[in-house]
Amino acid sequence: MSFTIFYFNPKATAETRAAVQAALPGGWNLLTPSSPGDQSRELAACDFILVADHPITAANLDAAPRLRMIQHQGVGHDNIDLAACQARGIPVAITPEGTSTGVAEHTLLLILALYKKLLVAAGAARQGRWLQWELRAASHELSGKVLGLVGFGRIGQEVARRAAAFNARILYTDPLATAPSDLLAERVATLGQLLERADIVSLHLPLTTQTRHLINARSLAQMRRSALLINTSRGGLVDEAALLEALDSGRLAGAGLDVLAQEPPPGNHPLLQRDDVLITPHISAGTREAFATKMRHAFANMLRHTRGEPLHHCVTALAEAKTLT
Ligand code: NAD
Repeated sequence: MSFTIFYFNPKATAETRAAVQAALPGGWNLLTPSSPGDQSRELAACDFILVADHPITAANLDAAPRLRMIQHQGVGHDNIDLAACQARGIPVAITPEGTSTGVAEHTLLLILALYKKLLVAAGAARQGRWLQWELRAASHELSGKVLGLVGFGRIGQEVARRAAAFNARILYTDPLATAPSDLLAERVATLGQLLERADIVSLHLPLTTQTRHLINARSLAQMRRSALLINTSRGGLVDEAALLEALDSGRLAGAGLDVLAQEPPPGNHPLLQRDDVLITPHISAGTREAFATKMRHAFANMLRHTRGEPLHHCVTALAEAKTLT
């Protein structure tokens, strides 16, 4: 049987679209957005939607009468109207496979780059200035530092494993997850306890109505003066105005952000030009290796749906596939 997939990702490059096409099950058709802003033709024709961070609204669902399932190619599905999917009987599944390694590596990259003043050192070297001694007093090692992980699910635990290899001490707070027995990590009961003790606070939890602006003026004031804030999860977790104020007042040593409240940010975003802030364009999980793994697992899940088998990583209450009659 042949099915039509709509890859609902207007930002995808030709190379990315080709990689999706290459992973497509034999005989299936791939649609990609043909005209900016109007996807009605693709929505009307598709059986499955594969999506990255593009929003999926109730109106999109109403425009897609054949739609059977939505597969998110990553993990953070806060842009999908889950209630609308649920009301229409459309299951939504995510693809953690291929995501955690990239985000964990990126988290370590941001920490080490900030501790070693990489932006300043490399930027100066390009301009012919050799800052061999100037940055030492303000540079640090990860070894021996306390890394506080807010959220200890798939990614938080992968970060912990890598940071442990750098000899960091791991603290975490999570209402549900606990450390596996092979991972040396101390659980603290509250965010406040973690903020008071951590040299680095790294966010690895979903954005929800409860967690929006979890990091705000109050929580920033609880952090150590020399601390770093790392966010590879979602921009909405951090009140950026409060972060800016904490950096300006010297309350915080720096921030590494792969995600912002508005992406892409306006050119005059006050966090963009600072030496103590390292911003990357939401690329934590964006590697060639991750993409190949994600596509393999995303299409395997859609095939599961066509066979009427239970889906993997379903985030709606509709875990069972609808029968294809
Ligand atoms: P996960 O579901 O495995 O883990 C999230 C953990 O956060 C869970 O254990 C949950 O109990 C915990 N949590 C929820 N609310 C909390 C709170 N208030 N305080 C502390 N912990 C809380 O998810 P994951 O795969 O580890 O992904 C984490 C997040 O990373 C995703 O939600 C997504 O937003 C983000 N992400 C970003 C990128 C990127 O490219 N930058 C890629 C993938 C995922």
